[in-house]
Amino acid sequence: MTDDNARLAIVTRWSWIKKKQKEYLDQKRETVRKYVDGESHYFDGHRYLLSIVKAQRSAKVTIAGNGRIELHCSDDAPYSAKQKAFDAFYRQHLNEFLRRNLPKWCKALNVDLPEIRVQRMRTKWGSCNPKSNRIMINLELAKKPLRCVEYIIAHELVHLRVRHHSSEFIALLETVMPDWRYHKDILNSLPLAYDEWTY
Ligand SMILES: [Zn+2]
Repeated sequence: MTDDNARLAIVTRWSWIKKKQKEYLDQKRETVRKYVDGESHYFDGHRYLLSIVKAQRSAKVTIAGNGRIELHCSDDAPYSAKQKAFDAFYRQHLNEFLRRNLPKWCKALNVDLPEIRVQRMRTKWGSCNPKSNRIMINLELAKKPLRCVEYIIAHELVHLRVRHHSSEFIALLETVMPDWRYHKDILNSLPLAYDEWTY
């Protein structure tokens, strides 16, 4: 794309970009997590209540019974260590889910198994680079229902075959997930993680 073409593309899509930004800002936000007893934490589409469990080793997160999620850490564990433990927990969960489920979606869509990266993303649930056969999945998805994660997997895999959200794209997505709109709506209605949005 030349500079002029890029500029034109942005100008013609400006109202759409603004609308999307507003939608993003209007979504209910999760407040900053404090990592204290009784605080709500989401995992797998469910709300869990946090229990702090005293431990000497490095901070670790586990799921306990009765809708509890446990953070094992020492009394003097810094905030960053607690945050890191949650991220590691979410990352492991997502990676395992992807490892188990990606092959069947690739087969259904007749695409090669891509390289997958789970990472923090500010504005998207996923992204796809067909050239390098690489897909990025937002770490935040670990908090959402698994079917929503599958919707993002299917969506990004369809991009390996169809670049834009054209009628061809939607038709292909619908062959493997006829109810994709429902999962998309759920994703868009759930609170996003707290994020200092700079727009
Ligand atoms: Zn897309």
